[in-house]
Amino acid sequence: MKKNNKITSRELDFAQWYTDIVKEAGLATYSPIKGSLIIEEYGYAIWESMQEVLDDMFKKTGHKNVYMPLFINESLLNKEKDHIEGFAPEVAWVTHGGNEKLEERLCVRPTSETLFSDYYSKKIKSYRDLPRLYNQWCSVVRWEKETRPFLRSREFLWQEGHTVHETEKEAREETLKMLDVYETFFKEYLAIPVIKGRKTEKEKFAGAVETYTIEAMMHNGIILQSGTTHYFGTNFSKPFEITFLDRNNELQYAHQSSWGVSTRMIGALIMTHGDDNGLIIPPKIAPTQVVIIPIGEDEKVVQKAKELETSLLKNNIRVIVDDSPKTPGFKFAQNEMLGIPLRIEFGLRDLEKNQIVLARRDDYSKKEVSLDEDLNELVSNILEEIQKDIYNKALARREERTYKCTSKEELEDIVKNKPGFIKAMWCEDENCETALKEIGGLKSRCIPFEEEHFYDKCICCGRKAKKMLYWGIQY
Ligand SMILES: [Zn+2]
Repeated sequence: MKKNNKITSRELDFAQWYTDIVKEAGLATYSPIKGSLIIEEYGYAIWESMQEVLDDMFKKTGHKNVYMPLFINESLLNKEKDHIEGFAPEVAWVTHGGNEKLEERLCVRPTSETLFSDYYSKKIKSYRDLPRLYNQWCSVVRWEKETRPFLRSREFLWQEGHTVHETEKEAREETLKMLDVYETFFKEYLAIPVIKGRKTEKEKFAGAVETYTIEAMMHNGIILQSGTTHYFGTNFSKPFEITFLDRNNELQYAHQSSWGVSTRMIGALIMTHGDDNGLIIPPKIAPTQVVIIPIGEDEKVVQKAKELETSLLKNNIRVIVDDSPKTPGFKFAQNEMLGIPLRIEFGLRDLEKNQIVLARRDDYSKKEVSLDEDLNELVSNILEEIQKDIYNKALARREERTYKCTSKEELEDIVKNKPGFIKAMWCEDENCETALKEIGGLKSRCIPFEEEHFYDKCICCGRKAKKMLYWGIQY
């Protein structure tokens, strides 16, 4: 079905295929600043669409938006030892203001735990001041050596939730609740199935007691860590002195959480659903859900296109008419590239037969439909069907590429020949986890919530297995 010669075939060169789509669909382009990306209009429209849904989900779960400064004092960043150790290698520093050297360096935020903690320490005095459930939309900077559009760049857009609670129980519940929100968003909006679980001690966030994650498999079997939530316990509240008088008038340290997803999700969309002709955007997140392409310039055809557009818009379907002076073939290819879920096309001859043609982006199926039908309902139904179908396709692909391994040889073979999710039993010793990393860049993904016990021995050392781990090669 490959028709678009501007895009390298996915089978031929996955990395080039990805880059071609990013470029050709107008998602992003390189900037004069190394490792920093210009998000172009279509990429930004997709981001806004994601933002809109997520922001609503955050607000419905009681969160409010705030905005913290871009800079963090070095002394503030240094307050939590693990946190600074984790981020130090990738922090960008501001040393001068104009021509004057600053007395204290400022870091460009790599994440904002320290700023929120400092703020909370000043605001919170009593249990009556709790909880605080905040989120911020912003960009952060991490000085990555190797970068890739949307997957890894020095500056990226994200949201970071930062909450502070009276009790451990509440903070832990929040951490898991937001993981569920992420899972719902991925499943129901992005049509991407995810594995939910906890990161191992070794892979958890710098400064966290526990890190939870959703992990998704891309089309080539590589795994993308797609969203994380962290329970901090009192790891930040102690050094930052976030204390409050509890219900018994005793001084307590507050419990915190944080959680984030980023523009990585655009990368996930491309690599989960896209094909050799471009993007396939799930209808629920697509900036444009339907494109109407009138064929020929006959007044009746143009008129009908406008009429349909008005009617669909009234029914809250995001639709555009593409009546640009280009050939239908060019327009078809262009709109396929953009991944618009449904195309409506018709010419004078169709109208004479009282029909139009509906063409699905995901499976290229075409259907002639009588104009007597209720087109609003029909289009809504098809969009729903597409949403479901692409999710199921992604799920089937993941199942097909999820393996249970009991020996290192087996593991090596999979990593080399058909990467995907690998389930393996583990003794819980970090040395075993580290040892497996030697195999082709393999990394533990998570200890899943849905545990299985399919073998008694640790895949690495042969001792008694305690947990099943998911493994994979990561982006
Ligand atoms: Zn072991």
